[in-house]
Amino acid sequence: MIARNPVAVEVCDAKLDAQSAPSLSWNQQIADMIKSPQELLSLLELPEALLQDALPGHAQFPVRATRDYVRRMKKGDPSDPLLLQVLPLHLEQQEMIGYSADPLSEADYTASKGILQKYHGRALLITTSACAIHCRYCFRRHFPYSEHRQSRAQWKEALATLPGDGGVSEIILSGGDPLMLNNPVLDELLTLIAELPQISKVRLHTRLPIMLPDRIDQGLLDLLSNRPFKTIMVIHANHGAELDASVEKALARLRPVVHMMLNQTVLLKGVNDDSSTLAALSERLFECGVTPYYLHQLDKVQGAAHFDCGDERLSSLMQALRAKLPGYLVPRLVREIPGAPSKTPIFA
Ligand code: SF4
Repeated sequence: MIARNPVAVEVCDAKLDAQSAPSLSWNQQIADMIKSPQELLSLLELPEALLQDALPGHAQFPVRATRDYVRRMKKGDPSDPLLLQVLPLHLEQQEMIGYSADPLSEADYTASKGILQKYHGRALLITTSACAIHCRYCFRRHFPYSEHRQSRAQWKEALATLPGDGGVSEIILSGGDPLMLNNPVLDELLTLIAELPQISKVRLHTRLPIMLPDRIDQGLLDLLSNRPFKTIMVIHANHGAELDASVEKALARLRPVVHMMLNQTVLLKGVNDDSSTLAALSERLFECGVTPYYLHQLDKVQGAAHFDCGDERLSSLMQALRAKLPGYLVPRLVREIPGAPSKTPIFA
């Protein structure tokens, strides 16, 4: 068996001297998120010198992280794998050939306002622009959310444009993060979807169970329960240290009301680009009842080139990962190629 990720153990110890657990509601915790690199650096007792590096990136795509998530970072460590996902670096300012604002050409797959249709049988609904974290590698960091903003009446109109003949059987709720919607709004959306007889599956892509375990409240569990479609929850964990005891509890609450819990990870240089870290993540996901599904190669979004691991090491990395894990815990390494009929497996 693979040893538990040592970083995760250190984080648990660090949490003992962290501030006491918040008694704020999840909405209040969102309002109280960390929104400046100054505060992030100060909380983590990191040198002020890092601030100058962070400010240009912060101006373009502002720092956002929940205090709960930041509590899992190691104080005084500028290379902490969770911190690297949220702290802008001067490297974001480099103009790199092959990197663009819309690396997946999503503008070409807009079926109607707020709905993207990239693959057969599935339609993706942009539910909100809001997230509980701003991931520095996000492929939608330049996405024109204002062009896709929808009122609830417009959701109904947009859903009505979906073909009713089995052309679309799955709706993917994306964003932003769909769990940033309040329970009554999410309930209303799922009720609208439930009225579409052709929809048999609804998939939610979310980082909220990780960023803010308190988001998995009873109201959410109730509104997910007893729907006529199967619900699939895809959490986006990139490192085992993200999955502390409170996340594990939140995932345990979700498990009875969803059909599947999957994880997708982005392969990020400096964060998780070694087989031991990825193996520890898979083992931790397994402990939390989540199946490691995809390992995504970085989408070449402008500002994220410093996370790119390149192609050369991928083969040896996957070989080493396979040697460490049973097959059912090895995620599929894929890349997204605009226009391809599915995610493209690497070393299938
Ligand atoms: S949570 Fe998802 S959509 Fe939001 S910033 Fe991170 S990667 Fe992007």
